Amino acid sequence: MEPSPTRRRSFVVRAPSSASSVDSDGGPRNDDESIAWATALREARRKQAASTEDPPTPAVHYVLLVGLCAFLFIMVQLYSQVTSMDSFVQPDRQMAPLVLEVPVDLATLYTGGTYTATIEKQVVCNLCQGHGYDQAAGMHKCPVCGGAGIVVHEQRFGRRVHRVRMGCDHCGRSGHLPNHVCPRCHGHGHHRTESSVSFTIAPGMMHGEEVILQGAGNAQRHVATGDVVLRLMPARTASRFLRRGHDLETTVSITLLEALTGVTKVIRHLDGRDVQIETHDVVHPQTLLRIPRQGMPCRGLQATYGDLLVRFRIQFPETLTPDQVAGVSFLLEDKEQTTS
Ligand SMILES: [Zn+2]
Ligand SMILES: [Zn+2]
Repeated sequence: MEPSPTRRRSFVVRAPSSASSVDSDGGPRNDDESIAWATALREARRKQAASTEDPPTPAVHYVLLVGLCAFLFIMVQLYSQVTSMDSFVQPDRQMAPLVLEVPVDLATLYTGGTYTATIEKQVVCNLCQGHGYDQAAGMHKCPVCGGAGIVVHEQRFGRRVHRVRMGCDHCGRSGHLPNHVCPRCHGHGHHRTESSVSFTIAPGMMHGEEVILQGAGNAQRHVATGDVVLRLMPARTASRFLRRGHDLETTVSITLLEALTGVTKVIRHLDGRDVQIETHDVVHPQTLLRIPRQGMPCRGLQATYGDLLVRFRIQFPETLTPDQVAGVSFLLEDKEQTTS
Protein backbone atom coordinates (compact mmCIF):
# COMPACT_ATOMS: atom_id res chain seq x y z
CA MET A 1 0.00 0.00 0.00
CA GLU A 2 1.25 3.48 -0.85
CA PRO A 3 2.33 5.36 2.33
CA SER A 4 0.26 8.43 3.08
CA PRO A 5 1.87 11.89 2.91
CA THR A 6 1.24 12.26 6.63
CA ARG A 7 3.41 9.27 7.46
CA ARG A 8 6.26 10.55 5.32
CA ARG A 9 6.11 14.00 6.90
CA SER A 10 6.04 12.54 10.43
CA PHE A 11 9.22 10.65 9.70
CA VAL A 12 10.95 13.78 8.42
CA VAL A 13 10.01 15.68 11.57
CA ARG A 14 11.09 13.01 13.97
CA ALA A 15 14.52 12.62 12.50
CA PRO A 16 16.02 16.00 13.61
CA SER A 17 14.42 15.78 17.08
CA SER A 18 16.14 14.08 20.00
CA ALA A 19 16.32 10.33 19.84
CA SER A 20 14.97 10.05 23.39
CA SER A 21 11.48 11.18 22.30
CA VAL A 22 11.03 8.21 20.00
CA ASP A 23 10.56 4.62 20.92
CA SER A 24 12.18 1.80 19.18
CA ASP A 25 8.95 1.37 17.16
CA GLY A 26 9.01 5.05 16.08
CA GLY A 27 6.07 6.38 18.18
CA PRO A 28 5.88 8.98 21.11
CA ARG A 29 6.39 7.57 24.62
CA ASN A 30 3.99 9.77 26.70
CA ASP A 31 1.46 12.62 26.42
CA ASP A 32 4.01 15.46 26.66
CA GLU A 33 6.04 13.96 23.99
CA SER A 34 2.89 13.41 21.94
CA ILE A 35 2.00 17.09 22.27
CA ALA A 36 5.52 18.12 21.33
CA TRP A 37 5.46 15.73 18.44
CA ALA A 38 2.11 17.08 17.23
CA THR A 39 3.37 20.65 17.55
CA ALA A 40 6.47 19.84 15.59
CA LEU A 41 4.31 18.10 13.01
CA ARG A 42 2.10 21.19 12.60
CA GLU A 43 5.18 23.39 12.33
CA ALA A 44 6.64 21.13 9.68
CA ARG A 45 3.37 21.14 7.73
CA ARG A 46 3.22 24.91 7.94
CA LYS A 47 6.79 25.24 6.66
CA GLN A 48 6.17 22.80 3.86
CA ALA A 49 2.98 24.56 2.84
CA ALA A 50 4.80 27.87 2.91
CA SER A 51 7.62 26.47 0.81
CA THR A 52 5.18 25.09 -1.80
CA GLU A 53 3.41 28.41 -2.02
CA ASP A 54 6.62 30.29 -2.79
CA PRO A 55 6.48 31.81 -6.25
CA PRO A 56 8.79 30.01 -8.73
CA THR A 57 11.94 31.80 -9.63
CA PRO A 58 12.61 33.00 -13.22
CA ALA A 59 15.07 30.14 -13.65
CA VAL A 60 12.27 27.67 -13.00
CA HIS A 61 10.16 29.46 -15.58
CA TYR A 62 12.97 29.20 -18.07
CA VAL A 63 13.48 25.49 -17.46
CA LEU A 64 9.76 24.84 -17.81
CA LEU A 65 9.60 26.80 -21.04
CA VAL A 66 12.57 24.95 -22.53
CA GLY A 67 11.07 21.63 -21.51
CA LEU A 68 7.74 22.53 -23.10
CA CYS A 69 9.44 23.59 -26.32
CA ALA A 70 11.45 20.36 -26.42
CA PHE A 71 8.31 18.32 -25.86
CA LEU A 72 6.48 20.13 -28.65
CA PHE A 73 9.45 19.71 -30.99
CA ILE A 74 9.60 15.97 -30.35
CA MET A 75 5.88 15.62 -30.91
CA VAL A 76 6.06 17.53 -34.19
CA GLN A 77 8.93 15.34 -35.34
CA LEU A 78 7.03 12.18 -34.48
CA TYR A 79 3.94 13.43 -36.28
CA SER A 80 5.89 14.38 -39.39
CA GLN A 81 7.56 10.97 -39.43
CA VAL A 82 4.25 9.20 -39.13
CA THR A 83 2.60 11.29 -41.82
CA SER A 84 5.62 11.33 -44.12
CA MET A 85 5.80 8.60 -46.72
CA ASP A 86 9.56 8.64 -46.79
CA SER A 87 9.76 7.06 -43.36
CA PHE A 88 8.06 3.98 -44.72
CA VAL A 89 10.06 3.65 -47.91
CA GLN A 90 11.76 0.30 -48.19
CA PRO A 91 15.35 1.08 -49.14
CA ASP A 92 15.89 -2.24 -50.89
CA ARG A 93 13.04 -1.66 -53.31
CA GLN A 94 13.12 0.90 -56.06
CA MET A 95 10.97 1.50 -59.09
CA ALA A 96 12.46 0.50 -62.43
CA PRO A 97 14.20 3.37 -64.24
CA LEU A 98 12.58 5.18 -67.13
CA VAL A 99 14.93 5.04 -70.12
CA LEU A 100 14.49 7.75 -72.73
CA GLU A 101 16.47 8.12 -75.94
CA VAL A 102 17.22 11.75 -76.64
CA PRO A 103 18.26 12.81 -80.16
CA VAL A 104 21.08 15.34 -79.95
CA ASP A 105 22.93 16.83 -82.91
CA LEU A 106 26.69 17.26 -83.09
CA ALA A 107 26.50 21.03 -82.79
CA THR A 108 24.78 20.73 -79.40
CA LEU A 109 27.44 18.30 -78.22
CA TYR A 110 30.06 20.84 -79.30
CA THR A 111 28.54 23.91 -77.70
CA GLY A 112 26.53 22.27 -74.92
CA GLY A 113 22.95 23.20 -74.13
CA THR A 114 19.79 22.40 -72.25
CA TYR A 115 17.35 19.74 -73.32
CA THR A 116 13.76 19.54 -72.14
CA ALA A 117 11.69 16.43 -72.74
CA THR A 118 8.17 15.41 -71.82
CA ILE A 119 7.86 11.99 -70.22
CA GLU A 120 4.92 9.96 -68.99
CA LYS A 121 5.51 8.55 -65.56
CA GLN A 122 3.71 7.09 -62.58
CA VAL A 123 3.13 9.37 -59.61
CA VAL A 124 1.66 8.83 -56.17
CA CYS A 125 -1.94 10.03 -56.01
CA ASN A 126 -1.99 13.21 -53.98
CA LEU A 127 -5.73 13.01 -53.41
CA CYS A 128 -5.49 9.88 -51.24
CA GLN A 129 -1.76 10.15 -50.42
CA GLY A 130 -1.15 6.81 -52.14
CA HIS A 131 -3.62 4.81 -50.04
CA GLY A 132 -6.16 4.36 -52.82
CA TYR A 133 -9.09 5.24 -50.60
CA ASP A 134 -10.31 7.85 -48.18
CA GLN A 135 -8.88 6.86 -44.80
CA ALA A 136 -11.32 9.08 -42.95
CA ALA A 137 -14.27 7.17 -44.46
CA GLY A 138 -12.99 3.94 -42.91
CA MET A 139 -13.35 0.32 -44.04
CA HIS A 140 -16.01 -2.36 -43.97
CA LYS A 141 -15.77 -6.10 -43.83
CA CYS A 142 -15.48 -7.95 -47.09
CA PRO A 143 -18.92 -9.42 -47.92
CA VAL A 144 -17.35 -12.47 -49.57
CA CYS A 145 -14.99 -13.68 -46.84
CA GLY A 146 -16.63 -11.91 -43.88
CA GLY A 147 -13.39 -10.23 -42.86
CA ALA A 148 -11.27 -13.39 -42.71
CA GLY A 149 -9.45 -12.77 -45.97
CA ILE A 150 -9.81 -16.47 -46.75
CA VAL A 151 -12.59 -18.35 -48.51
CA VAL A 152 -13.21 -22.08 -48.45
CA HIS A 153 -13.94 -23.86 -51.71
CA GLU A 154 -15.52 -27.28 -51.68
CA GLN A 155 -14.58 -29.81 -54.32
CA ARG A 156 -16.49 -33.04 -54.70
CA PHE A 157 -14.75 -36.23 -55.73
CA GLY A 158 -17.52 -38.78 -55.81
CA ARG A 159 -18.82 -38.98 -52.28
CA ARG A 160 -15.83 -37.22 -50.84
CA VAL A 161 -15.79 -33.49 -50.31
CA HIS A 162 -12.48 -31.65 -50.18
CA ARG A 163 -12.36 -28.26 -48.64
CA VAL A 164 -9.67 -25.96 -49.97
CA ARG A 165 -8.82 -22.69 -48.21
CA MET A 166 -7.89 -19.93 -50.61
CA GLY A 167 -7.20 -16.24 -50.34
CA CYS A 168 -10.15 -14.00 -51.02
CA ASP A 169 -9.75 -12.29 -54.37
CA HIS A 170 -12.53 -9.82 -53.70
CA CYS A 171 -10.59 -8.02 -50.93
CA GLY A 172 -7.09 -9.11 -51.83
CA ARG A 173 -6.87 -11.26 -48.66
CA SER A 174 -7.12 -8.19 -46.47
CA GLY A 175 -10.63 -9.01 -45.26
CA HIS A 176 -11.72 -5.39 -45.52
CA LEU A 177 -12.79 -3.03 -48.25
CA PRO A 178 -12.69 0.77 -48.23
CA ASN A 179 -15.90 2.67 -47.92
CA HIS A 180 -14.77 5.34 -50.35
CA VAL A 181 -12.40 4.46 -53.18
CA CYS A 182 -10.28 7.33 -54.46
CA PRO A 183 -11.88 8.67 -57.66
CA ARG A 184 -8.56 9.85 -59.08
CA CYS A 185 -6.46 6.68 -58.86
CA HIS A 186 -9.41 4.23 -58.60
CA GLY A 187 -7.88 2.48 -55.62
CA HIS A 188 -4.39 1.97 -57.03
CA GLY A 189 -2.76 4.74 -55.01
CA HIS A 190 -0.92 5.98 -58.09
CA HIS A 191 -1.67 7.10 -61.61
CA ARG A 192 0.17 8.13 -64.75
CA THR A 193 0.80 11.69 -65.73
CA GLU A 194 2.94 13.70 -68.11
CA SER A 195 5.91 15.54 -66.73
CA SER A 196 8.73 17.52 -68.24
CA VAL A 197 12.36 16.88 -67.42
CA SER A 198 15.26 19.08 -68.37
CA PHE A 199 18.95 18.45 -68.17
CA THR A 200 22.16 20.14 -69.22
CA ILE A 201 24.26 18.78 -72.06
CA ALA A 202 27.88 19.51 -71.23
CA PRO A 203 30.20 20.40 -74.13
CA GLY A 204 32.07 17.34 -75.29
CA MET A 205 29.46 14.75 -74.30
CA MET A 206 29.24 11.76 -76.59
CA HIS A 207 26.45 9.90 -78.28
CA GLY A 208 25.56 6.81 -76.27
CA GLU A 209 26.32 8.58 -73.02
CA GLU A 210 23.62 8.48 -70.36
CA VAL A 211 22.39 11.21 -68.07
CA ILE A 212 20.72 9.92 -64.90
CA LEU A 213 18.15 12.08 -63.13
CA GLN A 214 17.88 10.47 -59.73
CA GLY A 215 14.43 10.26 -58.22
CA ALA A 216 12.68 11.80 -61.23
CA GLY A 217 11.00 8.61 -62.48
CA ASN A 218 8.11 6.40 -61.46
CA ALA A 219 6.86 6.72 -57.90
CA GLN A 220 4.83 4.44 -55.70
CA ARG A 221 3.94 4.42 -52.03
CA HIS A 222 6.48 2.62 -49.80
CA VAL A 223 8.89 2.15 -52.72
CA ALA A 224 11.86 4.35 -53.53
CA THR A 225 11.22 6.56 -56.55
CA GLY A 226 12.93 5.41 -59.72
CA ASP A 227 15.38 7.33 -61.88
CA VAL A 228 15.11 8.75 -65.37
CA VAL A 229 17.90 7.64 -67.70
CA LEU A 230 18.38 9.88 -70.75
CA ARG A 231 20.49 8.24 -73.44
CA LEU A 232 22.02 10.63 -75.97
CA MET A 233 21.41 9.41 -79.52
CA PRO A 234 22.51 10.91 -82.88
CA ALA A 235 19.93 13.23 -84.33
CA ARG A 236 18.84 12.67 -87.91
CA THR A 237 20.20 15.96 -89.11
CA ALA A 238 22.84 16.29 -91.82
CA SER A 239 26.19 17.59 -90.69
CA ARG A 240 29.34 18.41 -92.60
CA PHE A 241 31.36 17.10 -89.68
CA LEU A 242 32.06 13.58 -88.56
CA ARG A 243 33.19 12.89 -85.02
CA ARG A 244 36.17 10.65 -84.42
CA GLY A 245 36.68 10.63 -80.68
CA HIS A 246 37.72 14.13 -79.76
CA ASP A 247 38.59 14.96 -83.38
CA LEU A 248 36.27 16.29 -86.05
CA GLU A 249 36.57 15.38 -89.69
CA THR A 250 35.22 17.31 -92.65
CA THR A 251 35.68 17.22 -96.43
CA VAL A 252 36.32 20.28 -98.60
CA SER A 253 35.87 20.41 -102.35
CA ILE A 254 38.68 22.08 -104.28
CA THR A 255 39.52 22.50 -107.94
CA LEU A 256 42.41 20.80 -109.67
CA LEU A 257 44.11 24.18 -109.93
CA GLU A 258 43.82 24.64 -106.14
CA ALA A 259 45.13 21.12 -105.62
CA LEU A 260 48.20 21.99 -107.62
CA THR A 261 48.78 25.55 -106.53
CA GLY A 262 47.54 25.66 -102.94
CA VAL A 263 44.28 25.99 -101.03
CA THR A 264 42.88 28.85 -98.98
CA LYS A 265 39.35 28.16 -97.75
CA VAL A 266 37.01 29.25 -95.00
CA ILE A 267 34.69 26.70 -93.43
CA ARG A 268 31.86 27.36 -91.00
CA HIS A 269 32.41 25.51 -87.71
CA LEU A 270 29.72 23.87 -85.54
CA ASP A 271 29.38 26.93 -83.34
CA GLY A 272 29.09 29.29 -86.32
CA ARG A 273 32.68 30.49 -86.32
CA ASP A 274 34.61 30.79 -89.58
CA VAL A 275 37.80 28.76 -89.57
CA GLN A 276 40.38 29.38 -92.26
CA ILE A 277 42.25 26.43 -93.72
CA GLU A 278 45.32 27.06 -95.79
CA THR A 279 47.94 24.89 -97.45
CA HIS A 280 50.50 25.68 -100.14
CA ASP A 281 51.49 22.09 -100.77
CA VAL A 282 50.20 20.01 -103.65
CA VAL A 283 47.03 18.31 -102.46
CA HIS A 284 46.55 14.65 -103.24
CA PRO A 285 43.26 12.77 -102.96
CA GLN A 286 44.67 11.13 -99.78
CA THR A 287 45.89 14.37 -98.25
CA LEU A 288 44.73 14.88 -94.65
CA LEU A 289 45.21 18.33 -93.21
CA ARG A 290 45.22 18.52 -89.42
CA ILE A 291 44.24 21.81 -87.78
CA PRO A 292 45.00 21.65 -84.06
CA ARG A 293 42.51 22.61 -81.35
CA GLN A 294 39.56 22.90 -83.70
CA GLY A 295 37.99 19.57 -82.77
CA MET A 296 35.53 18.64 -80.04
CA PRO A 297 36.05 19.95 -76.52
CA CYS A 298 37.50 17.36 -74.16
CA ARG A 299 35.03 16.99 -71.33
CA GLY A 300 36.54 17.51 -67.92
CA LEU A 301 39.71 19.06 -69.32
CA GLN A 302 39.62 22.82 -69.26
CA ALA A 303 40.31 24.50 -72.63
CA THR A 304 41.39 21.24 -74.23
CA TYR A 305 40.17 20.37 -77.71
CA GLY A 306 40.72 17.73 -80.31
CA ASP A 307 41.89 18.48 -83.84
CA LEU A 308 40.04 19.25 -87.03
CA LEU A 309 40.90 16.83 -89.85
CA VAL A 310 40.29 18.16 -93.34
CA ARG A 311 40.06 15.89 -96.36
CA PHE A 312 39.87 17.20 -99.91
CA ARG A 313 37.61 16.24 -102.76
CA ILE A 314 39.42 17.32 -105.95
CA GLN A 315 37.08 18.31 -108.75
CA PHE A 316 38.74 17.34 -111.98
CA PRO A 317 37.64 19.12 -115.16
CA GLU A 318 35.32 17.16 -117.43
CA THR A 319 37.20 18.12 -120.58
CA LEU A 320 40.25 20.13 -121.60
CA THR A 321 40.58 22.29 -124.64
CA PRO A 322 43.54 21.62 -126.95
CA ASP A 323 45.18 24.74 -125.67
CA GLN A 324 44.77 23.58 -122.07
CA VAL A 325 46.20 20.17 -122.96
CA ALA A 326 49.15 21.78 -124.68
CA GLY A 327 49.70 24.11 -121.77
CA VAL A 328 49.47 21.43 -119.12
CA SER A 329 51.72 19.16 -121.17
CA PHE A 330 54.22 21.91 -121.59
CA LEU A 331 54.22 22.75 -117.92
CA LEU A 332 54.37 19.19 -116.63
CA GLU A 333 56.97 18.13 -119.18
CA ASP A 334 58.97 21.17 -118.24
CA LYS A 335 58.69 20.22 -114.60
CA GLU A 336 59.68 16.62 -115.26
CA GLN A 337 62.71 17.77 -117.19
CA THR A 338 63.75 20.19 -114.46
CA THR A 339 63.21 17.63 -111.67
CA SER A 340 65.07 14.91 -113.63
ZN1 LIG B 1 -12.61 -10.90 -48.86
ZN1 LIG C 1 -5.95 8.30 -55.09
